[in-house]
Formats: sequence, structure tokens, C-alpha cells
Amino acid sequence: MELKQLYREIVNEHNLHPVHKGKMEAPDLVLRGVNPSCGDDITLQLKVEDGVITDAMYDGSGCAISQASVDMMADQIIGKKKDEAIKLAGTFVGMIKGEITDEESIEALDEAAALQDVAHMPARVKCAVLGWHTMQEMLEHPEKATGN
Ligand SMILES: [Zn+2]
Repeated sequence: MELKQLYREIVNEHNLHPVHKGKMEAPDLVLRGVNPSCGDDITLQLKVEDGVITDAMYDGSGCAISQASVDMMADQIIGKKKDEAIKLAGTFVGMIKGEITDEESIEALDEAAALQDVAHMPARVKCAVLGWHTMQEMLEHPEKATGN
């Protein structure tokens, strides 16, 4: 299968059948992330126990790339330590900005690596990184987040 087609199918699949979309009961951290240039508006909710992310969900609306990206991100970070998730966000943002291109780093992103092509679509960069930025922000600055 051609890579671009695979990329489109993964994005479509996460839009049609999001796995982590909805409202979480009693989240530990809640933070809204907005990308005004496109109209993407998400609220990310995390459960964190002993420094490990045990659940991640998001609510809100936005374009296909923003929604697929945050859904894939939630998949990736559940079960990870906070610092691992922050590091992964750095890798993802680096990939989207075209600064990280080595296969080993990108493989760590698993399915989210499908968004690598966004690196060639400057207008969509903010859409792709919205969920990841929001996650990084709430883990590094929990005082900005609400929740339990
Ligand atoms: Zn967007």
C-alpha cells in the first residue's frame, strides 16, 4: 500500500472510530487546547497514578488531523510514565516540524508516525501537535490544569 494512502486510512479510521473520545469520570488533570487558526478545540483529560498515565480521553471538535492525532496520542501515552509521555511529545513535535527524521525515534511513535507527512503541510502543523502540546503542558505545569 502506498504510504500516503496508508496515512489517509489511519487518519480516517481514527476519525470514524475514535477510541478515546468522550468524558472521563473524575480525571486527575483536565486542560483545554485550542488552535484558533483552524478552529480545533479539545479538552484533554488524564488519570495519573504514581507518575504513570493510566487513562487518557479527549472531548471537543476539530479537523480530521487534530482529532486523529489526539486519538493516536491517547493510545500511545496510556501506561507510560509522565516523563516518557513528555519525551514522546517532543519526538512527535520534532517529527511534525521536520526536525526529527531518524527512523528509530519515529518508530517510537508507533501509529502516530503516520502523520509524518504533515511536516510538508505547514498549515496543518498546529492541528497535528495540538493534543501533544496540551498533554505536555498539563504534565509539566499541572497548576494550569483542573481536575481532582
Ligand atoms: Zn485543524
